[in-house]
Amino acid sequence: MTSQTTVHPDRPRIPSPDQIRRAPKVLLHDHLDGGLRPGTIVDLAREQGYTNLPETDPDKLGVWFRDAADSGSLERYLETFAHTCAVMQTKEALFRVAAECAEDLAEDGVVYAEIRYAPEQHLEKGLSLEEVVEAVNEGFREGERRAKENGHRIRVGALLTAMRHAARALEIAELANRYRDSGVVGFDIAGAEAGFPPTRHLDAFEYLKRENNHFTIHAGEAFGLPSIWQALQWCGADRLGHGVRIIDDIEVDKEDGTVRLGRLASYVRDKRIPLEMCPSSNLQTGAAGSLAEHPIGLLRELRFRITVNTDNRLMSGTSMSREFALLVETFGYTLTDLEWFTVNALKSAFIPFDERLAMINDVVKPRYAELRSEWLFR
Ligand SMILES: [Zn+2]
Repeated sequence: MTSQTTVHPDRPRIPSPDQIRRAPKVLLHDHLDGGLRPGTIVDLAREQGYTNLPETDPDKLGVWFRDAADSGSLERYLETFAHTCAVMQTKEALFRVAAECAEDLAEDGVVYAEIRYAPEQHLEKGLSLEEVVEAVNEGFREGERRAKENGHRIRVGALLTAMRHAARALEIAELANRYRDSGVVGFDIAGAEAGFPPTRHLDAFEYLKRENNHFTIHAGEAFGLPSIWQALQWCGADRLGHGVRIIDDIEVDKEDGTVRLGRLASYVRDKRIPLEMCPSSNLQTGAAGSLAEHPIGLLRELRFRITVNTDNRLMSGTSMSREFALLVETFGYTLTDLEWFTVNALKSAFIPFDERLAMINDVVKPRYAELRSEWLFR
């Protein structure tokens, strides 16, 4: 009897963890102060005489960060950032953290990343806003160099974040604009949504629009549709950080499965507004109950412009490969789905169009095609 190994064309081919790691990935939503290596926090704390760390063993400290973020207590969650920011107050520390961030992402197969941080949170030991931005930029360049030495290619751009509860948004927007040709690709606002609507910072967004610059806004994570609506229709955001609550404007008929989109959800889909989704982070903050229930499943089916992101790699104990692996496990996604998320992210990136296109056609697509064809040569 002759036999032929074949795969039914409709049967999805599930990518292996190794293929996911080797697949080129793009990251648009990742916080610099949420992605430090535990060992680096311990080193920096020792060097700087910071004695408030809950653990000084790197492994135990890593577990502490994840537990604190998992605890469901906002106080403990915020405490995690108090520790990371505390050790990121010198040029040397910022340089090291940024360099390692680029290295770690490259090691994980990320080829393009936009990393955000709030310069105003790194001024405690007397650095100026400019010194913060320059130290981080130099760190990213160093990380790109080290990655190249190790056979990886990565490009990292910075997003400057202003804090929603503070009153420095215009100043930070001006800073982002000043460094737009030297490593800063855009602007963001972050922090507690409730009580701090993005319209508080209209002057900053209007300034950036007049400068033809780009920005994203954290909206629709904890707080619902009004926050998304304001971010888009009042502030003019190019992208939404999270945006998971857009699901509140979508109705699925329990009987026949008909889907009805409200005006806002329609607008978001029609205008291809990118949603920077961060599945693991959303589970920790309670924005979704479980991955299976996460709006990303339905939103992907409805072909919203979904991107997959890490948010805080340290607090969520995650990486781009892990986020992809979790989605593959939960929704049965194939390499073609992962490629779709990656192309979506590049289409939504803040670097120039020709560079995005080259990244899609010359870096992402050929490597996904290669991965998809591996079964042929086993
Ligand atoms: Zn975020």
